[in-house]
Amino acid sequence: MKIELIKGDITKIRTDAIVNAANSSLLGGGGVDGAIHRAGGKRILEECIEIRNKQGKCKTGEAVVTTAGNLPAKYVIHTVGPIWNGDEKKCSLLLASCYKNSLKLAENLDVKTIAFPNISTGVYRFPKELAAKIAVDKVKNFQSEIIEKVVFVCFDDENEMIYRQLLNL
Ligand code: ADP
Repeated sequence: MKIELIKGDITKIRTDAIVNAANSSLLGGGGVDGAIHRAGGKRILEECIEIRNKQGKCKTGEAVVTTAGNLPAKYVIHTVGPIWNGDEKKCSLLLASCYKNSLKLAENLDVKTIAFPNISTGVYRFPKELAAKIAVDKVKNFQSEIIEKVVFVCFDDENEMIYRQLLNL
């Protein structure tokens, strides 16, 4: 599995799937979630509402999928990151689950290329360095015959620097 780092806006990325740092309501929010719904159009929200009607809210650490509306990707995988509360062990396990469950879902969809934002490091205030270590570790240790490329999309300078160092780029 190839790993790439891109600085920029995940809504512009042409991978088969992009991951959204959603909230458990699945009804949209700020940050990357807001950007994805704005750029992708109302189809994504309609599908999120259908999922909610079927299964209720999406739990922290879990992931669900919709199509990608007007975005260049085929799918949006919505995963709910933990809100940082200082409980390092619990928050780390939940964040690791976000990456693992998103990758598993992607495999089931036969996704070859997938892009991740820096889940939980915005409004949810997860420490960026620790979040990046978990993200890189989970992706590197995920053995896949299906997924060929994972792109980490960093929006802010600090995350970009952290990922660049961790990935030796
Ligand atoms: P969370 O609630 O999980 O913290 P946020 O959207 O607030 O989610 O932030 C998660 C990360 O997404 C932050 O590092 C933020 O800089 C980044 N981000 C915000 N907008 C975009 C975008 N358009 N593309 C990629 N990343 C983004």
